[in-house]
Amino acid sequence: ATAAPLTGARTVTHCPYCALQCAMAVRGTETSPADAGGLCQKGWTAGALLRSPARLTTPLIRIDGELRPASWDDALDLVATRLTELKRDHGADANAVFGGGGLTNEKAYLLGKFARVALGTSQVDYNGRFCMSSAAAAGMRAFGLDRGLPFPLADLSEADAILLVGANPAETMPPFARYLKRGLIVVDPRRTPTAELAELHLQPAPGTDLALALGILHAVVADGLLNQSYVDERTAGFAAVWRIAAAWWPERVERITGVSAADQRAVAARLANARNAYILTARGTEQHASGADMVSAWINLALALGLPGRAGSGFGCLTGQGNGQGGREHGQKADQLPGYRRIDDPAARAHVAGVWGVPADSLPGPGRSAYELLDALGTEDGPRGLMVFGSNVLVSAPRSAHIADRLGALDFLVVADLVLSETAALADVVLPITQWAEEEGTMTNIEGRVLFRRRAIDPPEGVRTDLDVLSGLASRLGQPDGRFPADADTVFEELRAASKGGLADYSGITYDRLRAGERLHWPVPETDHPGSPRVFLDRFAHADGRARFHPVDHRGPAEPTDAEYPLQATTGRVLQHYQSGAQTRLIDELTDAVPEAFVEVHPDTAARAGLADGDWASVESRRGAVRARVRCVPSIRPDLVFVPFHFPGAQRANLLTNPALDPTSRMPEFKVCAVRLAGAE
Ligand code: SF4
Repeated sequence: ATAAPLTGARTVTHCPYCALQCAMAVRGTETSPADAGGLCQKGWTAGALLRSPARLTTPLIRIDGELRPASWDDALDLVATRLTELKRDHGADANAVFGGGGLTNEKAYLLGKFARVALGTSQVDYNGRFCMSSAAAAGMRAFGLDRGLPFPLADLSEADAILLVGANPAETMPPFARYLKRGLIVVDPRRTPTAELAELHLQPAPGTDLALALGILHAVVADGLLNQSYVDERTAGFAAVWRIAAAWWPERVERITGVSAADQRAVAARLANARNAYILTARGTEQHASGADMVSAWINLALALGLPGRAGSGFGCLTGQGNGQGGREHGQKADQLPGYRRIDDPAARAHVAGVWGVPADSLPGPGRSAYELLDALGTEDGPRGLMVFGSNVLVSAPRSAHIADRLGALDFLVVADLVLSETAALADVVLPITQWAEEEGTMTNIEGRVLFRRRAIDPPEGVRTDLDVLSGLASRLGQPDGRFPADADTVFEELRAASKGGLADYSGITYDRLRAGERLHWPVPETDHPGSPRVFLDRFAHADGRARFHPVDHRGPAEPTDAEYPLQATTGRVLQHYQSGAQTRLIDELTDAVPEAFVEVHPDTAARAGLADGDWASVESRRGAVRARVRCVPSIRPDLVFVPFHFPGAQRANLLTNPALDPTSRMPEFKVCAVRLAGAE
């Protein structure tokens, strides 16, 4: 597929929100679809963001407790001075950088370089740690490569069976639903709009997905459905997985998950007997303290059925944020250098240091993961200065009241954003930046395809690009001219060189190719390479070409229910809002549709708490309470409540959530925590 051509004042670019990155035409500040995929309500109304009266157009500096307008020079001088002082007094790791999965590849790349070179700090991570880290960790250990979908989206249309686990794309990215044509099986404790499309909907108890995957795997083997020749020829490690799964017969799994043994066997048979089948996971199964193992459990099932790397079949993880894929490849992660290289790999350090023109031994090692970094802010050993780009951590991080305390304990907080987000409102310096249609850059979408975001309109006077901000700060911090370029074109050229030879190799992608309409799946190692739509057809990325089974066992939620907190809460998105809501809450049409937080609850559960549809409720966990409007929904499990995470203040769902971390991915357990329900004024 190629991007639609430019015509007159109508510029084809890509949506500011989710990982589908729908192509849209921008004319003035109006948006419309630019390909056959259509747009969801968020995309149709995205033009309103470009003319929002809430837009910041001047830097702000806190003076006597109030944020006051300032010049760019004064703001950047102050940031450089304070960061330099903190480094001088407390060492390089006294400064930290927090990025985002919605930043373009160029921004993610330059932000990681800025942290390691201009600040010399190891303390850099990003909000994708809260999003794709479990999928990434499990994908790397199974396949040796982490590309969320290792095949084009369109391949899904040919499937006879799709098992979708913890994903609600019919609501969160509606154009995706056109790929869910036949044989859809949904695993979700809620009856979502996606579950409504399914031929079979399994509603396991929250946090029991891993047991469910083991039960289905057991049924595959016990019912003679194992793809033995594929397991022998293309994988390693099945025996250790079976030693665990052998003890998880479907009737035992039924007692834990609530999913009948018959349904488990039916899923095994449908996937095994389909001509083309896919297993796809998303945040519902990934955002757990055992999230990486949960994904491994679904990958083990896919490998037992012989799906990954088979034409017309496969395994994949759906990215959520706009650049959820590219954002995790170019070095804004605590343990990573560009090209999806490990920061503790001497060869990777030497290569990237060479591109950056610095000694390899000057690069810091791995830093703290996102929650651990936020948790350490203002502590004796933790960062004292923080720069936030492309994230609204006060609303989006778990255990939100604690995060507010940690942000308050900082000596210096800088936030770059389009608007005064809840996090920006706490800052010492706020830097107003450009947004999607006002700047150039690349985004890597859900299928690993690198897309060109064109500049469609001029930014308002007074705002600068993130790249310009980083460039200006770097020169104030003493970096030589040219080391931190401000134009996306030059940054991408450097990214190409830094990624060359890495797992996510962009070296054959050029702006000329993208401007000419190519939309290339990485890896693209040469400028005449056609891209890599399907990466595992011949071999997986481990040295021996085989995929790895990974032995995992059921652990259950980190915080079980008890007499005091008898329900479990889960969180997620609604159609009209995106992430912390900092952008979508500015758009009247979206806030008119969903103006406030709600708690979806079974009518019997509500009645037991003395609540009726439309009442205000207090949802309470050991970490805080959320005020939300009761929505009685008979199809939700009676032991579960659901709260969307798009709202600020007393309505922020992350006041509840549990920061218990996955030991491998460092993903917090967003998707299940123990709560109780009470009335509220
Ligand atoms: Fe934008 Fe995602 Fe909606 Fe497409 S599905 S219009 S990318 S928010």
